Amino acid sequence: MKINRISHIGLAVKDVDMAKSLYTDKLGLEIKGEEMLGELKIAFVPVGETSIECVQSTTAEGVMCKFIEKKGEGIHHIAFEVDDIEAAVEELKGRGVAMIDQKPRPGAHGTKVAFLHPKGTYGVLIELVQPGAGH
Ligand code: ZN
Repeated sequence: MKINRISHIGLAVKDVDMAKSLYTDKLGLEIKGEEMLGELKIAFVPVGETSIECVQSTTAEGVMCKFIEKKGEGIHHIAFEVDDIEAAVEELKGRGVAMIDQKPRPGAHGTKVAFLHPKGTYGVLIELVQPGAGH
């Protein structure tokens, strides 16, 4: 398995539109993509080779609402880009790494993603991401 780069840093936010105005109006960055993924409202803000991914839950029971209740807004996960996520997940499982996702699943804008279990990553939620076509 080869990790190419940090694809993005995922932030748990209460309001994506408010967060967007920080990154665009105040920090002078541009929004690259926005979409809904299930209950999640997501905006990507490229910063060089890496992006900031602002993620808001649109339901009170949503995963980001629960995270914010416990820890407050802030960094939620770090995503490493790999070329072959199926192989990467199998390789990690073979090395005894606990996975939240036993198989990759669809992520934002056509990517495939799989999360490592934070119990084995010193409290950091790590996501693997394989770019989708055209990304
Ligand atoms: Zn992510």
